[in-house]
Amino acid sequence: MSMDVVIAGAGMGGLSASIALGLKGQQTTLLEKRTSFGEVGAGLQLGPNATRILQRFGLSKALERYAAWPSHIEVFRFDQEKALAKLSLGEAFQARYGAPYATLHRADFQAILHERMLSIGQTDLRMGTALLDCKSSDQEVQLHIEAKTQEVEASNKETFAPSSSSKPQSLSAKVLIGADGVSSDVRRLHWPHRHIYATRHLAYRATLAQKLLPLRLRQSCVRVYMGPQMHWVQYPIRCGEWLNMVVLMEVPFDATHSKDTVQTPLQQTWHEQVPLELSHWHFSQALKGASPDLQDLFRAVGEWSPWRLFDTNPLKGAHQLAQGRLALLGDAGHAMLPFLAQGAGMSIEDADALANAWAHEEQAVTLRLENYAQSRWRRNARVQRRAQTNASVFHAKGAFAGVRDLGLSMLGERLLDMPWLYGHR
Ligand SMILES: Cc1cc2nc3c(=O)[nH]c(=O)nc-3n(C[C@H](O)[C@H](O)[C@H](O)COP(=O)(O)OP(=O)(O)OC[C@H]3O[C@@H](n4cnc5c(N)ncnc54)[C@H](O)[C@@H]3O)c2cc1C
Repeated sequence: MSMDVVIAGAGMGGLSASIALGLKGQQTTLLEKRTSFGEVGAGLQLGPNATRILQRFGLSKALERYAAWPSHIEVFRFDQEKALAKLSLGEAFQARYGAPYATLHRADFQAILHERMLSIGQTDLRMGTALLDCKSSDQEVQLHIEAKTQEVEASNKETFAPSSSSKPQSLSAKVLIGADGVSSDVRRLHWPHRHIYATRHLAYRATLAQKLLPLRLRQSCVRVYMGPQMHWVQYPIRCGEWLNMVVLMEVPFDATHSKDTVQTPLQQTWHEQVPLELSHWHFSQALKGASPDLQDLFRAVGEWSPWRLFDTNPLKGAHQLAQGRLALLGDAGHAMLPFLAQGAGMSIEDADALANAWAHEEQAVTLRLENYAQSRWRRNARVQRRAQTNASVFHAKGAFAGVRDLGLSMLGERLLDMPWLYGHR
């Protein structure tokens, strides 16, 4: 069977790409190894660089139903209750960038994208179908996929593992877009020298109904608290009814998880199993000296889910994003630390750029992918680098932290506002 455009991975990047291409009239086949979208229990911040594109995707009304619209971003030292700096996200900010700053539950966002993809009607979504192998030639891409049989699907397992009850198939495509996330199989097979490594960072995530919190702890803004080797981010989601919290901390991992260990192929999922006593110890270290508000919020949460953070070197050129009939998109192409809250934002920008490049039907498909990569690699590399820099700034200790805090209190909004990031078109 021959198909034009196949996308591997129906995460935020793959769904966005199928929407963007669908709006240009391009049919796609979207392969997703999970059998259902399931609940992804955490939040997401989307800057105006991303929400501007979502508006063009026709998602404004859907966002109104689910998103929260924080009034401002505030930055604190983790042991103080007075903000060091503040950026208003109100009318002036929206007028400046032509779109709002949104915060969402990931499951809601995924549902919104999925719904829109269905309404456009240009995508053949194949859940429970994993891409196993792909070979690219001058004429086509040969794909080897495996689809779960119905019996396996009925067993309700969420993740896909090839087994005797799976059906191997071959198909060919004009192009393959690898939107298969940080542990991308497309990248592993065709860009084997691009390594992803586990970092010393762990992100503990939790969501909580705001009505369960005392009034003083409820929030309608994004707050960032910075402490030594940790920072805490919180913001409202679900029209402001819930609060999302992420605590990012540097923790000692065993040697097999050191920065030097190249994970190829990457076997772990981002979700970690951390014994309860160990996670209590992590928090006791990270929150030593933290303000009473943070201590109270920590205690108000029943369960924190730990996630290991992975990183990769910033992109060095377009050849790392596209080669011949293959291209990478989102985390598959440029995994990054979440210290700028822009990984999903970049996958949405990628999707938009891919569709714009693809629309040039007069060009050869390989040139269109090359143009997509040329338009994206510098931007993604810059965001990757800034996220890495933020990791050391946010988690600074001693004198460096003092200089950071002085800079924030003197320059405030000028440091928090980032026209190069939010104003990108
Ligand atoms: C703690 C934390 C906080 C974050 N906060 C933010 C934030 O506030 N704002 C923001 O913009 N970003 C944030 N991010 C980053 C964001 O989550 C990612 O950048 C984003 O999810 C990447 O989307 P993706 O579609 O590229 O990959 P993924 O979401 O990982 O999707 C990849 C999909 O591919 C599927 N797949 C994998 N292999 C195969 C295969 N062989 N065949 C078929 N399917 C396959 C997977 O099942 C998955 O569904 C955060 C990340 C973390 C860890």
